[in-house]
Amino acid sequence: MPELPEVETVVRGLRRGLIGARLGAVLFASQRIARSNAPGFRSRMRGHRVEQIDRRGKYIIVSLTGDNAMIVHLRMTGRLWIKPASYRRHRHDRFVLSLLDGRCLVLSDARQFARVEWCSHFDPASHPGLKKLGPDALLISAAQLSDACSKSHRPIKSLLLDQTRLSGLGNIYTDESLFAARIHPRAPADSLGTKRIARLNSAITSVLQQAIEMCGTTFDTFSDLEGKAGGYGPLLKVYQRTGLPCIICQSPIRRVSMSGRGTHYCGRCQKV
Ligand SMILES: [Zn+2]
Repeated sequence: MPELPEVETVVRGLRRGLIGARLGAVLFASQRIARSNAPGFRSRMRGHRVEQIDRRGKYIIVSLTGDNAMIVHLRMTGRLWIKPASYRRHRHDRFVLSLLDGRCLVLSDARQFARVEWCSHFDPASHPGLKKLGPDALLISAAQLSDACSKSHRPIKSLLLDQTRLSGLGNIYTDESLFAARIHPRAPADSLGTKRIARLNSAITSVLQQAIEMCGTTFDTFSDLEGKAGGYGPLLKVYQRTGLPCIICQSPIRRVSMSGRGTHYCGRCQKV
């Protein structure tokens, strides 16, 4: 699943290719994927210009002229592409938007969990998904993280995955951040003292920043807008390294299931 670094990679690519572009017709929109609060959005969005592109957690916000916006969430396997005018639709392309310069913005998704939403009079504070998001994982302060942890007795891994507490982390970067902070994924969130919170906060920031520099991690489907895979994979220390030696103590990396998610950690380096 694309997490914060992968979504940030897509957003940076969109900014390079899409700012200033004017929207043409919606050429194809799967009903399962495309939603709208603007009746007749297919024709109403035509001619609007892309003004700004932002990320909030794992959401992509494409702001358009006239207080309109297109919100995209890639969920499990969604991918965005900017295609040339000669583009022909592939069977997994679920949403195709033409641009007045002849190119197309395409959302493809084999599994159809991704969402594209058209909002008129867009206001993030009243958007059902965006308004629930906790502070962005890249920007969260130690005080905000401490506040989120102190109110929960859940294992720290579950809390970090909860987008209402802090937004943007998924399975890969929670495992990597907890390893970097030497905290066991099962440690109760409210048991972490000031020192461990500060360590976790800086681990999250540095893991995410490094992953963004490497344009994310690709395991199966993620790529940037040009189809290029992310480069962070070789830098992973625990995620999907089950049985391989820990880079610090040489103990084999363990894998357990927590809330149905595979969780990777070093039983010697990471303390409950
Ligand atoms: Zn270790």
